[in-house]
Amino acid sequence: MAGDVDFLFVGRGASAALTVRALEGAGLLAGRRVLFVDPDPKSRNDKTFCFWAEDTEPVVTDLVDLIGHSWEKARGGREPLVSIAPMRYHQINSLDLYEDLSRRMAANGWELRAEAVESVGADEQGAYAVCGSEKVRARWVLDSRPPHRDTAPGNAASGDAVSGDLVQPDLAQSFYGWVVETDFPWQRDAGVTLMDLEVPQDGATQFVYMLPYAENRVLVELTRFGTAILEAELAEQRLRDYLGAAQPDQATYRIVHREQGIIPMAEHRNERRGAQSERRSALSERHPLHGVVPIGTRNNALKPSTGYAFKTMHQQARELAQFLGNSASDDRASESRGPTAMTWQPQPSHPRFAFLDGLLLHILRRRPHQGKAFLNNSLRARPSPRSCALWTKNPPGKTICEC
Ligand SMILES: Cc1cc2nc3c(=O)[nH]c(=O)nc-3n(C[C@H](O)[C@H](O)[C@H](O)COP(=O)(O)OP(=O)(O)OC[C@H]3O[C@@H](n4cnc5c(N)ncnc54)[C@H](O)[C@@H]3O)c2cc1C
Repeated sequence: MAGDVDFLFVGRGASAALTVRALEGAGLLAGRRVLFVDPDPKSRNDKTFCFWAEDTEPVVTDLVDLIGHSWEKARGGREPLVSIAPMRYHQINSLDLYEDLSRRMAANGWELRAEAVESVGADEQGAYAVCGSEKVRARWVLDSRPPHRDTAPGNAASGDAVSGDLVQPDLAQSFYGWVVETDFPWQRDAGVTLMDLEVPQDGATQFVYMLPYAENRVLVELTRFGTAILEAELAEQRLRDYLGAAQPDQATYRIVHREQGIIPMAEHRNERRGAQSERRSALSERHPLHGVVPIGTRNNALKPSTGYAFKTMHQQARELAQFLGNSASDDRASESRGPTAMTWQPQPSHPRFAFLDGLLLHILRRRPHQGKAFLNNSLRARPSPRSCALWTKNPPGKTICEC
């Protein structure tokens, strides 16, 4: 039996949208039964995805219709703006990505169920997802539910969270930003300010990040790496002070939008443990998770020390499309339409990157007063393709010197 559907997407956020584009691009969804299950209507611009890339990279050529802004210059902290050629810093609004997926769903008549999946697994009949009292079967279940974490962000104030045999406080990236407009051109030489650490650190590691959308329209965001989540009241005060110093006459700017978010900064070790415990439970059913593919942050796409995931998710979506394309050819050769006996894993990154991530996370968690000096030192180097790559993802199989 091939299942109730061919592809079941558990979650229809960023990685699902990128995977659908990659699979459609490879011609793998034509005439297929596709189902999406997600309780969230995805009707808000809840995230903006930024990433570095050269114009010829697939993440740009594939998504050019979605890229809302691109910048050619950047500065680290208060260093001068410099060209980041041949790279640019790009931004995609999450709502544009969600709407793109909605249009594809409507055009193809793919079904959406607005509910939460309770569990995902595989047995002798293949992969499945449990929705309410129903077990929905699929040849491929693409699972983007948030990954298992040993720790949840924001609990540090109430004490340390237990992680296996270790006791460690949580760490998260939390941010709060304003889009402000001025009556005069403020950012004539448009470029991105990546990390201005010359702000009060408030017992954590904090910096301001700025994206100029137009000469008189700028996103100014306070970001905290820390064990306590940035509170709105404090963030508003810090932003007022920051803009007050940059724009002494405060009447000259208007706040036209507010945004805030939290990204857990979990170490690779935690992710591996989560994956191992899921594998163990599947094994206890005596069936490996054939046909179940974790995608997005569930597939370790997030670089824990920086919170970047988008470019890696896009790369993983392409690799998955290639893998499924090959397995579809094998199926045609063998005329098999039964449950698949395959699994897919992206290339693991070199362990040294996990080590470096772990080191930075250790400093941010245990020695927050040293975070500013550590990041300021790394920002002194001119933004370059190499440093951009290091911030964005962990290149598979490469040593640090090679990237
Ligand atoms: C505020 C914010 C800003 C970010 N900005 C950037 C950035 O600038 N650049 C970058 O590279 N990365 C960024 N990231 C990191 C990463 O790119 C995003 O988290 C991205 O959305 C991850 O994609 P995903 O598909 O794994 O998860 P999501 O996009 O969150 O999608 C998961 C989906 O699963 C659904 N779901 C959850 N539980 C269930 C369930 N039980 N059953 C069914 N569905 C379920 C959710 O409703 C959601 O729609 C940001 C993250 C956050 C939180």
